Amino acid sequence: MKIHEYQGKEILRKFGVPVPRGIPAFTVQEAVEAAQKLGGPVWVVKAQIHAGGRGKGGGVKVAKSIDEVKTLAEQILGMQLVTHQTGPEGQKVRRLYIEEGADIQKEYYISVVTDRATQKVAFIASSEGGMDIEEVAHSTPEKIVKVFVDPLVGMTDEQARELAQGINLPADSEAQFIDLAKKLYQCYMETDASLVEINPLNRDSQGNLIALDAKFNFDSNALFRHPEIVALRDLDEEDPAEVEASKYDLAYISLDGNIGCLVNGAGLAMATMDTIKLFGGEPANFLDVGGGATPEKVTEAFKIMLQNPKVEAILVNIFGGIMKCDTIATGVITASKAVNLKVPLVVRMKGTNEELGKKMLAESGLPIISADTMAEAAEKVVAAVKK
Ligand code: ADP
Ligand code: MG
Repeated sequence: MKIHEYQGKEILRKFGVPVPRGIPAFTVQEAVEAAQKLGGPVWVVKAQIHAGGRGKGGGVKVAKSIDEVKTLAEQILGMQLVTHQTGPEGQKVRRLYIEEGADIQKEYYISVVTDRATQKVAFIASSEGGMDIEEVAHSTPEKIVKVFVDPLVGMTDEQARELAQGINLPADSEAQFIDLAKKLYQCYMETDASLVEINPLNRDSQGNLIALDAKFNFDSNALFRHPEIVALRDLDEEDPAEVEASKYDLAYISLDGNIGCLVNGAGLAMATMDTIKLFGGEPANFLDVGGGATPEKVTEAFKIMLQNPKVEAILVNIFGGIMKCDTIATGVITASKAVNLKVPLVVRMKGTNEELGKKMLAESGLPIISADTMAEAAEKVVAAVKK
């Protein structure tokens, strides 16, 4: 789960990581009031969306007067902000963050992620922070330094110092950096984050460090123990189909293709998408209805999949183990009737109550194309969209 920058900064502040003073605003009027409350002389008007690259897309602007704050707030609020992380359609800006302008001397980069390979917490830092970190990673990877923190030991001063020296931080800021890195570690662990990224981490002309941006991702498997983080969720920023699916406990992810897939089991769902691609097709979604889905759940899954206007054909691939093929058949028939199915539907079923499921589909009167093997199913569904 992701949150907005201003929410991330609130969390950083709680853990003692220095951030500028700022106030979120949902209207132009609130933005003006926020600027007045903060006081001048310089403010930054920042679009709040769950994507980075806002600065380059025109979503972060400096204002030198209250009037300018007003003009910029009018400009940015409601705009369709396009960044390299939003995709070409962009994301509508519904919230702003009005922040005091910082005295920028040098922008550094620091982030924390879980490294699966070493089973440690990786700290990644660079002297080249700011808006082009992807480019730095690509063309000058030697400017990126990493240390791996053992979760049983925690972050040591030596490790934090290694980072500070690795990014050529002036010595007079080193003690502050060590303190900040340790607080960041504590924040990462205690919130069950899967990513905390500060880019840029600014060093001002006095040598003081301050986080000018904050990006958090949280491990969704740990959200049950963080109601205060769940409360920060902004559904406007999430794919409506994925939000709908999560209500029914369906694992659904939107993709760019035109073949809808309804499968039980994440592994089979992955294999199904691979097989579709092998035959030259493109899946429109990943959808795992789970092991014990009821006909109602299958019906909802079907509806969600069909809400995507790009879907030109559907492939249902079911392995009947705990999930019985007749349950799926009931769901498919109910859903096809409920949504007045117009696209070709290919069904492959194997396992428990296979014969019963197939019989139900055959007798349903629906124009279902049946397939026996995965290859045959993929081939048929790819052929169906090409017609
Ligand atoms: P994004 O990473 O989405 O582009 P940032 O919050 O990093 O958004 O802002 C982009 C740039 O704007 C930063 O790299 C920094 O140079 C500048 N900036 C951001 N916040 C402030 C601030 N409070 N004061 C001065 N400059 C800022
Ligand atoms: Mg940034």
